[in-house]
Amino acid sequence: MQEKFDYDVVIVGAGPAGAVLAQKVAKENHDVALLDMKPREKIGDKVCGDGISASYFDRIEIPHPTGDELAMVMEASDVMSPDCEGVLKVYGKGYTINRLPFGQRLVSDAIKAGAHLMDKSQATGPIIRDNSIVGVTYIDKRTHEKKKITGRVIVDASGIIAVIRNKVPENILLENKVDRFDIAAAYRRIVSFDEAIKWTVKSVLIYLNQWYAPGGYVWIFPKGEKVANIGLGVQPIKGAPNPAALLKLFEKDWEIKPKEIIHEGGWNVPVRRPLAQIAANGLVLVGDAASQANPMHGGGIGHAMLAAYMASKTINKALESEDGTITLEELWGYPVEYMRSNGAKTAALEPIKLLLQGLSNDEINFIIKSKLITGEQLLDIESNPKRGVGVIKKVSLLVKNLRRIKLMNRLRIAANYYYGIYNLFKSYPENPKELAEWNRKVMGIIQESKEKLWRNPLQWAAKI
Ligand SMILES: Cc1cc2nc3c(=O)[nH]c(=O)nc-3n(C[C@H](O)[C@H](O)[C@H](O)COP(=O)(O)OP(=O)(O)OC[C@H]3O[C@@H](n4cnc5c(N)ncnc54)[C@H](O)[C@@H]3O)c2cc1C
Repeated sequence: MQEKFDYDVVIVGAGPAGAVLAQKVAKENHDVALLDMKPREKIGDKVCGDGISASYFDRIEIPHPTGDELAMVMEASDVMSPDCEGVLKVYGKGYTINRLPFGQRLVSDAIKAGAHLMDKSQATGPIIRDNSIVGVTYIDKRTHEKKKITGRVIVDASGIIAVIRNKVPENILLENKVDRFDIAAAYRRIVSFDEAIKWTVKSVLIYLNQWYAPGGYVWIFPKGEKVANIGLGVQPIKGAPNPAALLKLFEKDWEIKPKEIIHEGGWNVPVRRPLAQIAANGLVLVGDAASQANPMHGGGIGHAMLAAYMASKTINKALESEDGTITLEELWGYPVEYMRSNGAKTAALEPIKLLLQGLSNDEINFIIKSKLITGEQLLDIESNPKRGVGVIKKVSLLVKNLRRIKLMNRLRIAANYYYGIYNLFKSYPENPKELAEWNRKVMGIIQESKEKLWRNPLQWAAKI
């Protein structure tokens, strides 16, 4: 006799990934439970830089932010050299958003589509039977009771905590942990000013500077004439300074004097290639729980929603089958689609991140101020590796002509790993049985690129 499930799909986490997935699956008349540990009115309230490219919304087929959700429309990102004498302007429409109303809209849309929101429900782990994930244990925060809920598919969309994934054994999921080396620890303040901001308000500002943000960067994202989101991320390796203290130092040195701190806080984001395995029997991983954010800058809202959109297509199709747990094979369409498209582009950026983490301020000043690369070319590296690989090789030649031989070598090595990883993800296995072998190749390249490109950024960091 077939097992009876409470829902077709149980989604843990109602952030951008979980809420979009819930909406897209519920819309097709499937029974969806959407759990979040927060109360309904707080869902979406996340410590974030609040920036997102406009390009995602049409791809995911959801409305662009407007009204309360929208802080500002941006036209470009200005990447500043550490000494601020060079700027790399990368054009592209984007938004700064207000995360709470944005998150509230995504959840409302999921509920309107028919999803059953279970707020104040804190998942504690998976229920596993015969190597399949069949449900979730959770605490009902209203009554403090321990409860269970089952589904034909369980989705871990709980962000970097990955409460389900973390407890799935490695005989079911190839990777269930993310190393600290591969995380950005970030701290940000949303501040208001007495006077209108005098910097270019149509650009988000990115400061590459190993002194203030070792292994990461500082950002200033305008959210209005007198409001900005100011933050930084660091690589939280042993001995790394506290990002909150570094942000204070940055604000002091830059004489940033806010009238009011509207909100401040810290949180982490995974900055590595997507996890090798993002589906198992009865299980799907999306968003930060699948490490799908951009390794170079940690932007993950768009990637989380895009992955959710792709996962929904596979899940909707799989749910047309007879009752029972949806198998790994039935879910495999999602990893293949994601890894060969967005996953390949973002994974390729991991060696570039390692290269950047190993550059001194002097080297970054040199690259940006010598105008060796344009904003358009930087965009190619981020979003079009076929062109991007040529760009990096060209830059390495220019560097050679300027007699920076060591830097030239590092750029060439990075170009090779970048394109190697891209090609491996483009050939993500059609058959899950080939996954372990494929992942061994990925791990080989990643290990080599860490050894050859990464240098400890703490050697250049402020001592606090
Ligand atoms: C400081 C900082 C700045 C950032 N800036 C940007 C930026 O400017 N642009 C950008 O695109 N990205 C940015 N990111 C990354 C971005 O926030 C994430 O990539 C994105 O939110 C991932 O979405 P998600 O749905 O996977 O996870 P989340 O947004 O983290 O949502 C997870 C949800 O799961 C819920 N949850 C967690 N645990 C449980 C549990 N046990 N039970 C039930 N529910 C649970 C949470 O309450 C939450 O609602 C930033 C991240 C940080 C930390």
